[in-house]
Amino acid sequence: MLIKTDTIAALATPEGEGGIAIVRVSGAQAADVVARVFRAACGKPPQAWSHARMYYGHVVDGDERVDEGMAVLMRAPHSYTREDVCEIQFHGGRMQVRRVLSLLLRAGARAAEPGEFTRRAFLNGRLDLSQAEAVMRLIASSSERGSREAMRQLEGGVSHFVARARAEIVSLLAGVSAAVDFPDEVDEDEAAGDLRERALSLCELLRRACDERSGRIAQEGLNVVIAGRPNVGKSSLLNALLREERAIVTDLPGTTRDVLTESILLRGLRVNLSDTAGLRETQDVVEAIGVSRARTAMERADVLLVVLDGSQPLSGEDEALLRAPSAARKLVVLNKSDLKQAVDEARVRALCPGAQVLTLCAQRGEGVDALCERLLSFAPEDGAQSAALTQARHVQAAREACRALEDAVAAIDAGLPLDVTAVDLTRAMHILGEITGETFDEDVIDRVFATFCVGK
Ligand code: GDP
Repeated sequence: MLIKTDTIAALATPEGEGGIAIVRVSGAQAADVVARVFRAACGKPPQAWSHARMYYGHVVDGDERVDEGMAVLMRAPHSYTREDVCEIQFHGGRMQVRRVLSLLLRAGARAAEPGEFTRRAFLNGRLDLSQAEAVMRLIASSSERGSREAMRQLEGGVSHFVARARAEIVSLLAGVSAAVDFPDEVDEDEAAGDLRERALSLCELLRRACDERSGRIAQEGLNVVIAGRPNVGKSSLLNALLREERAIVTDLPGTTRDVLTESILLRGLRVNLSDTAGLRETQDVVEAIGVSRARTAMERADVLLVVLDGSQPLSGEDEALLRAPSAARKLVVLNKSDLKQAVDEARVRALCPGAQVLTLCAQRGEGVDALCERLLSFAPEDGAQSAALTQARHVQAAREACRALEDAVAAIDAGLPLDVTAVDLTRAMHILGEITGETFDEDVIDRVFATFCVGK
């Protein structure tokens, strides 16, 4: 069943030991449930508490004091889920959490499913689906850019864009109805021409808004693959970059990343540096694995950093690397600038037209700053995509909506009666509605919330 109204409870803070833990209870019975578990020092039962006020007291199991803590009741609809929500703060220990949760379940709450609080917030109209997804993005964000973008989405960036696009389709549909219902007053050819033009410009708008790459980069980081033959200084360069930015990102559990990838934060942008060198060295031992990992890293790369030893003439291997086709942008580094240069820079540029070439000394860290600048320039500008659709699910829907609009245009071009386009226009509107969840599709909603964790 889509809408459940029973009272649910879950730990809202991470599992483990902490100064405090917070459990959240949501539903019509929240105050009654908490009344059996928490005794405020002032003597007032939760049902009589003021809205959003903290009460000091004790978690109790009958007469036994289980813990000391604070509790707050947020009354519907002024809460995260728009239901009555009660939160209890107490000492954060695994055993305490287990005890408090089991007391709440015994008092009548049900253990919440993953994402159920946010799902209720969505079903009760506090958030639309894109905003619910933004909550998850915000929680999972590992860089400033990622969190800023999630925040824009949470504040309705995507919602407004979708609303505008849908309003335009409504207006197109109204035009179709008018032409069909009042054939004497509306010139069908003129109406068809107008519809054609507006459908195509809406398509263009949707297409321009699809910016999956910048969304992925903001969220997961810029993927940089370092390539070069042995001894050109790849490890030294990697170390220099890691030194440059002390904030080394530790990977979050669940993100599958290559073992040879290290992440740094460069002015709020996460940069994932993969060194494919080690792979090559182990090739004969575990060739298949090595090659496939290197290939995966290359496929995911936004930037291919080709490192050359500037103190040596180009080798055949260097030339092959420079020439190799790559979907990623190439950036060539001539390392070891402290030594007498022997590399033919003109030939490098000729082999790799369009690529930027940078001279540096990884050992002394000279030129690493400039390299960081270049790397930043490969990421889409921060804040440039405030109205854009950056989540894969949204982009997919927008592209599908475009196809539906193009079908409408094709129908007009084929000389079909105007009302035939209503089917395509309605489809486009329906698909766009899936982004915000206005079009109620249980499958889509289940898929979105499947990525949530318990307590959110
Ligand atoms: P990798 O095999 O490409 O990872 O190369 P390494 O980073 O291990 O470096 C190979 C050798 O080159 C080491 O002896 C480094 O000390 C040296 N090296 C790296 N960068 C520089 C540099 O900028 N200048 C000089 N002179 N030597 C360097």
